[in-house]
Amino acid sequence: MRPFLLFFLTALVLVMLTACNEATDDDRPAVVATTNVVGDLVRTIGGDDIALTVLMGPGVDPHLYRASEGDAARMSEADIVFYNGHHLEGRMTDLFEQMGRRGVRTVALAETLPDSLLQTSADYPGNRDPHVWLDASLWMLAVDAVEEALAEADPTHAAVYTERAAAYRDELQETHRYVEERAQKVPEERRVLITSHDAFGYFGAAYGFEVRGLQGISTATEAGTRDVQQMAAFIVEREIPVLFAESSVPERGIEAVRRAARDRGFPAEFGGTLYGDALGDRGTPEGTYTGMMRHNIDTIVDGLLRDPA
Ligand SMILES: [Zn+2]
Repeated sequence: MRPFLLFFLTALVLVMLTACNEATDDDRPAVVATTNVVGDLVRTIGGDDIALTVLMGPGVDPHLYRASEGDAARMSEADIVFYNGHHLEGRMTDLFEQMGRRGVRTVALAETLPDSLLQTSADYPGNRDPHVWLDASLWMLAVDAVEEALAEADPTHAAVYTERAAAYRDELQETHRYVEERAQKVPEERRVLITSHDAFGYFGAAYGFEVRGLQGISTATEAGTRDVQQMAAFIVEREIPVLFAESSVPERGIEAVRRAARDRGFPAEFGGTLYGDALGDRGTPEGTYTGMMRHNIDTIVDGLLRDPA
């Protein structure tokens, strides 16, 4: 072989080896998050020091979400899988157990909170209400589990995870205060929040709203005509001016309630769309947890303060 050709082939092989290496040489922890609410917290603490995949995008209902084969593969190759837990991702339970058996670390954020802080519901027997993130002071407690799991998986960056976690706790504290203060703008007797499903139990308890969801804690249970009529009767009786849709639940249910209230002679209106179980698009204010909390309280306050038409 001519020396020139030999040199060329050697160089080619070297280039190819380097390319291969680059494609797989991501030694950052591989992390999967289920909902984009969980994903936002993990991204905030992990930053660019983790390789993060978030399975559910904006508008996706976690109660109904079924993992694809690709999701399952991602999870089995991950170092850590973060999920909300308490059956929020009700159709992924078996998958989390499988991952646990395969040695993938699984962390259910809501399940790291003390049981004494959790709510139960008659329509969700045997379980805790999973929607803890809608109270920022509870979501703050979930930061610890993310910080700890990332630091254990990647000790060389432990200090930076701790630093980001501390800064984020301050931000959540500030968000909590903002929501509290805004809520106070609504007279107490007008603080009634009607939404598509019962996602706002912790929110109501933390910020002083009476809450009613058309569907129960899980959207897996559909609302019937009787539920629609009962809720319409409640709206008319209490003269609640606005109802709210949710970005991850089809609007037809809450729209049926609005029509039923109008049929009873009360001019109920839409107050806007809230982000209950999913954040908005990335790159918009509602695409982050803190932006979503601010959007929700601003929408609720503006709606409830509207003069009845
Ligand atoms: Zn929900």
